[in-house]
Amino acid sequence: MEKGGNLREIKSLLEKFTNAHGISGFEDDIRELLEKELEPYVDTMRRDCMGNLIALKKGEGPSIMLAAHMDEIGLMVRYIDDNGFLRFVGIGGWFDQTLLNQRVVLHGKKGSIPGVIGSKPPHVMKDEDRKKPVKLDDMFIDIGAKDREDAENLGIEIGTVASIDRNFVPLANGKVTSKAFDNRAGIVILIEVMKRLSKHKIEANVYAVGTVQEEVGLKGARTCAFGICPNVALALDTTIPGDHPGINKTDSSLELGKGPVVTVADASGRGLIAHPQVLKWLKETAAENDIPYQLGVGSGGTTDATSIHLTKEGIPTGTVSIATRYIHSPVEVLDTADIEACVSLIVKAIERVDKYFENC
Ligand SMILES: [Zn+2]
Repeated sequence: MEKGGNLREIKSLLEKFTNAHGISGFEDDIRELLEKELEPYVDTMRRDCMGNLIALKKGEGPSIMLAAHMDEIGLMVRYIDDNGFLRFVGIGGWFDQTLLNQRVVLHGKKGSIPGVIGSKPPHVMKDEDRKKPVKLDDMFIDIGAKDREDAENLGIEIGTVASIDRNFVPLANGKVTSKAFDNRAGIVILIEVMKRLSKHKIEANVYAVGTVQEEVGLKGARTCAFGICPNVALALDTTIPGDHPGINKTDSSLELGKGPVVTVADASGRGLIAHPQVLKWLKETAAENDIPYQLGVGSGGTTDATSIHLTKEGIPTGTVSIATRYIHSPVEVLDTADIEACVSLIVKAIERVDKYFENC
């Protein structure tokens, strides 16, 4: 397919997967969508007890696991007050300020219920309070209920989960914005890679895995890496660029539109220090195929690769990410050209994986 066609397909998958909802521990809708997309391109597919989706395209050579987490950060109702307002906890790493006055969707037992996040109005705050950010604990969800009983009749209970209500929109120059690019970007890469690999025979056994509960402790990746025990693994995720106001190149050298990010180390080495053979494999593949990429060294967050590489006696593991602005907010921004380049890099890398890793 010509390049414009690929980008159109990537955009439409991003739209489908970010408009859908699936917070940590409640990834069912995303998994169902992913199953449908992967089905034509793989030989087998199964769900494990954690909820991970494990798809396999069979080969004779070494096995590679591609892991993309299906979950997004969200909210969970912890208390319904007498007047029908909902108190909640954050599931995953929220910066409290980004939640205030957002529209949310509650996934109640009778279906989706819209709501908004409210707080004390600034007009009635004391001067010193107005200068402080509002904390999550001082916010509540308003679904328009008359009282607790009314909220319960609408299908809300303790433990009902909610996600941000924000749809995908294209921006200028191939950039796009939505919630949950972390990590539906990785999911879309997974789909496009399997689609392109399906067009010819390859040596490797390729496991395409949609993992659960990454945002709350890299949990799904840990159990499915143990089950698969691949010869090499890559986590596909998003990472923080330093190319907009409020952050410097000294904080992050990464930029949108400069290609996928090959992680050398994240969380100052407490997360992943990429395996040297994985780095060699990815760098040589990119160089020989003229695929742009950026090297990333981070001090903050980490990915599924951290739990995968510590499985059993250790698994050579790396992370390939898409630079994404405003991660963990309702308005994340990425460049679709980076996704296209990332898909090319992974496809080319898998085609020659047997030259770098043995089936043992
Ligand atoms: Zn992520």
